[in-house]
This record gives sequence, structure tokens and C-alpha cells, in this order.
Amino acid sequence: QAKGRGKNRIEIYEHDMDAERAERAALAVALRKAFSNEELQLHYQPVIEARTGRIVSVEALLRWIRPVEGPVSPARFIPIAEEIGLIEDLGAWVLRRACRDAAAFGDLRVAVNVSAAQFKNPGFHTVVAGVLAEEGFPAARLELDITESYLVAYPERARRMIDALRQIGVRIALDDFGTGFSSIGYLRRFAFDKVKIDRSVIIDVVRDPASQKLVEATVALADALGVGVTAEGIEREDEAVILKSAGCHELQGYHFGSPTTAAEITRRMAASRQALRRTA
Ligand code: C2E
Ligand code: MG
Ligand code: MG
Repeated sequence: QAKGRGKNRIEIYEHDMDAERAERAALAVALRKAFSNEELQLHYQPVIEARTGRIVSVEALLRWIRPVEGPVSPARFIPIAEEIGLIEDLGAWVLRRACRDAAAFGDLRVAVNVSAAQFKNPGFHTVVAGVLAEEGFPAARLELDITESYLVAYPERARRMIDALRQIGVRIALDDFGTGFSSIGYLRRFAFDKVKIDRSVIIDVVRDPASQKLVEATVALADALGVGVTAEGIEREDEAVILKSAGCHELQGYHFGSPTTAAEITRRMAASRQALRRTA
């Protein structure tokens, strides 16, 4: 009987796997089409400097809204783009688009997410340098978010790529810190300009003093190494207060602003410049 139940479970599992495979295949076809029809968009989320409360940068986030089915999360379609070999073209498009849009944001920096599949291309730094040159965008205002998976698998090659990118003048951030295997030892081993603490850690900080200590320890080491710390996914005032007092340099999350269009960021920055001129 137990064996029978086990078999059923396996059948259900296989059924789910088939459904998942079919859905991925359909998404892959739709994604290729959406990309070539220019139906993907970039939105931008403000990043606030903790000390002054001012917007100092924005993070570019891909948006795919299907006409009938509605939005698909990048967490879902980026892995598919990697699988079908679309990520290099898509990633280059994101990079170019972000530099072009950010040229109108005043002097804000722009953070662009880079997938491991892009990063492992030995010519990736020349792609970045090419886009910066063609768009006439200052390297110092571009920040690349990378996640740890590639660093873990190929630390030496990753280190060389990070160094090559910093040579160009681009800043490098370690994204999703506190998830997976990333340890604060990574801050010493790789030359990051910034570490971005994941929302999963931020949630714990309010109710768990140990998590708060972890953030404080991360900030202490980062400060000693000259690395910036951003707290991501801040939704509430109490989270903002704790993370600010823990010493995080930059704050990001719905509490400060949700991802929005380039036009809206341009409008807000123009409005705040005007307000500054009026008070001056
Ligand atoms: P990420 O780089 O860590 O980006 C932060 C994610 O947190 C974004 O999700 C953002 O919309 C979300 N977020 C921001 N504030 C809050 C908040 O207060 N609460 C909550 N719950 N979430 C918040 P999104 O846009 O769905 O993107 C998910 C992930 O997909 C990103 O995580 C990034 O790893 C990846 N991604 C997005 N755009 C791109 C891209 O252009 N290229 C690549 N390779 N990956 C991308
Ligand atoms: Mg990011
Ligand atoms: Mg993140």
C-alpha cells in the first residue's frame, strides 16, 4: 500500500514536471518574440542615501507584461533567457537602454543587474566598455549587480572580470547578500564597491536581534574595507530606522519608492532640482 502511494506521488510529480516543462517552453517562445518586438521594458527604483535622504542612484529592473497573460517576473524569465541563449543579447540591450535612460536622470548612478551567464563571457568587459563609449555615459555612474553563484563556481575568473571592470571605472556590487552561501569573507576576497543586503535579512532584522548584529558586523567589515552597504527591500518605517542606525549607507525599497518608468524618474529629478533652485 505504501508502495502504491509512493508510486502515485511519483506520477503526480512527473505530471507537474511535464506541465512545468511545457510552460517553460511556451514562455521561451513568447520571450524571444517579446524581445525582438521590443515589448520588454526597464523600470527604475530609487536608492536613497541614508545620511541625506536624497536619491543617489536607481536600479534598472526588467519588466515583461504579456498582452493577455499579464506580467511575468524577471525571477521567472531571466533563467529562461539564460537557458535559451538569449541572455547576452538581452543583457546588452538592458545595459544600453539603462545608460541611455540614465543620461536624463541628472547625476544619478544607475545599477544594472548582470547574470552569471553574461559575466562568464571573457569579453564581457569589452561589451560594457563599448556600450559606455557608444552612449557617451560616464563609467563612474554605472554600477553592475552580480550575484554570488558564479563567484562560488569560478572564483579566479570572477576575480579577473571584476578587476577588468573596475579598471574601466565601473562599480561592482554583490547582490542578494545574506541568501545562499555568501559570507562576509567574500567582501575581503573580491574587490566590491558595494554589498546589497537581501530583503530576507531585512525582514528578520526587526524581530531578531541576531540578524541585526549580523548586519552591524557586515557594515563594520565593509567600512573597514571601504565597501558601501545597501539595504534592499525596505517596506516599513521601523525597518528603515533600524537599518539606518545599523550604519547602512544606502536604503532601497517600496518605503522609499517602487520601480517606475524612466519618464517618471526624469520628472521627479527635474522637480527636485527646481525645488532646490527655489530655496537657493
Ligand atoms: P534584485 O536585483 O535583488 O532586485 C530587487 C528586487 O526586489 C526587484 O524585484 C524589486 O522590484 C524588488 N523590491 C524592491 N523593493 C522591494 C520591497 O520593498 N519589497 C519587496 N518585497 N520587493 C522589493 P524584481 O524586479 O521582481 O526582480 C527580481 C530579480 O530579477 C532581481 O533581484 C534581479 O536579480 C533579477 N533581474 C531584474 N532585472 C534584471 C535584468 O535586467 N537583468 C538580470 N540579469 N536580472 C534582472
Ligand atoms: Mg539588483
Ligand atoms: Mg537583491
